[in-house]
Amino acid sequence: TQPSSPLLLPGTEPQPWLQLVGHAESFQVGENGRLLKRHCEGEERCFRRLMEDRLSAFVPSFHGVVQHEGQDYTMMDNLLTRFHAPAIMDCKMGTRTYQEEELRLARERPKLRQDMYEKMVAVDPGAPTAQEGAQRGVLKTRYMQWRESLSSTTTQGFRIEGVRKANGECRTNFKRTKSREQVGEALRDFVDHDPRTVRGYLSRLKQLRHTLEASQFFRTHEVVGSSLLFLHDAAGRSGVWMIDFGKTSPLPPPLTLDHRTPWVEGNREDGYLWGLDNLIAILTDSLPP
Ligand code: ATP
Ligand code: MG
Ligand code: MG
Repeated sequence: TQPSSPLLLPGTEPQPWLQLVGHAESFQVGENGRLLKRHCEGEERCFRRLMEDRLSAFVPSFHGVVQHEGQDYTMMDNLLTRFHAPAIMDCKMGTRTYQEEELRLARERPKLRQDMYEKMVAVDPGAPTAQEGAQRGVLKTRYMQWRESLSSTTTQGFRIEGVRKANGECRTNFKRTKSREQVGEALRDFVDHDPRTVRGYLSRLKQLRHTLEASQFFRTHEVVGSSLLFLHDAAGRSGVWMIDFGKTSPLPPPLTLDHRTPWVEGNREDGYLWGLDNLIAILTDSLPP
């Protein structure tokens, strides 16, 4: 059981663990409100640097790498333990969610993928070209780019990956939630149409934006596939944190990014801040006049 934190109301239990998306076998619930995530060297390097960066207040605290049943794990704060039965949302940030390196590797070894062709057909039978249909296969690069164009990743610079509402309802089928209106509707549903919750999130997101714009870490990393985790509960607590740095990589100096310039292959831009600008604008629009 988790120790109680001074933030909690008397008579309530902290939320022990609930994973919205990602691979279930990647996580173990640790002790003292901590969480173990399957270790990856790149992510560990990011956490170490983030703890020294001004962004540290927006990232779960990192507590080193530990072994558990023969596996290495990254130990970090379990953000849920600060809340009671919270609503949770994972938003994957950026205008693309694959690294330039992945694109390069996929192109170096072009291989027709039947599994990806089948996933494509399952979502949209009209998506494959005549040639892809005849081959019953698509290139991985083509699949990756097609997938991004379905959701709001390309059009808004972020997409909702999963939501758990305060009433326990869970939803992860946002792969075709694309337009500003559709995203706005999903966000309003997540906050149960409560303007106080929206104002709390907006204030935190604006602080985050301000901090990102001044962060040395952010300027010098391609941040791909990383999420913002939103949490709020009935007691009026709310917060947003950056999670998932498995595909965040340092840039070769002196290259830096502004995270708003549109991506063209080679410039490494990820659209993270452009997506955050849009997220803030959509949330602002959802407030009553
Ligand atoms: P993927 O790469 O498929 O997005 P992943 O295996 O890298 O997933 P994460 O994205 O880091 O995993 O986390 C998956 C989910 O676990 C998040 O959506 C969130 O629900 C939960 N989670 C991750 N880190 C934390 C944390 N520090 N505190 C609370 N919940 C967390
Ligand atoms: Mg993730
Ligand atoms: Mg990940």
